[in-house]
Amino acid sequence: MDTIIQGITEFRDAVFPGQQQMYQRLVRDGQQPKALIIACADSRVAPEHITQAGPGELFVCRNAGNIVPPFSPHIGGVTSAVEYAVVALGVRDIVICGHSDCGAMKGLAQPDALGAMPNVAAWLRHSHAASQIVCEAYPTDLDPKQRLRALALENVVVQLNHLRTHPSVAAGLAKGDLRLHGWFFEIESGSLLAYDGEAGRFVPLRTEEALPVAEASAPRLAAPDVAARAAE
Ligand SMILES: [Zn+2]
Repeated sequence: MDTIIQGITEFRDAVFPGQQQMYQRLVRDGQQPKALIIACADSRVAPEHITQAGPGELFVCRNAGNIVPPFSPHIGGVTSAVEYAVVALGVRDIVICGHSDCGAMKGLAQPDALGAMPNVAAWLRHSHAASQIVCEAYPTDLDPKQRLRALALENVVVQLNHLRTHPSVAAGLAKGDLRLHGWFFEIESGSLLAYDGEAGRFVPLRTEEALPVAEASAPRLAAPDVAARAAE
């Protein structure tokens, strides 16, 4: 804890004076973050650090397993963060970011180890679809490392699907106002994979190429004829 307190002191005395104007501007003009990032609470996966973003640039929601529960009448922190980011802040991009060596995914792979953590076990039910995909659709002879990687990647896709069930996200996608991204941060190499929604797989992020997206922003109305007639 001493190093944390030391850090606070250093921020207040050495860092903040040089950034005071920026912080004051952020209060005066309000925040306009570029994206909502839903990442794992793992201490090694810091969205601001990975993207080199400063204060005011990212709206971040973190929890064990980078999970987005499907929309339901239950009030939840993730649901509120998603709704606030889309409706109040008008973010145009939502990222779900998973990672390698994820403790939550290890718990999902070995539920017996969660005996003393009933809340974690219950929370991870939101990832059971990923578990079932890996059990039924992948080869049975995966080694534990391969299984964990497949689980973490499939979990990002499952959570993207849950995200689409939230009314604010569904409406944003229908209007063509939102893009969805699935990322996977490899802690050991520092590299980032992005889910290509059209190809249905993760690909390495290359700076010279356009960022693959899970879902591009394009209006998608199930009744375009109705919309066209009403606009006439
Ligand atoms: Zn994790």
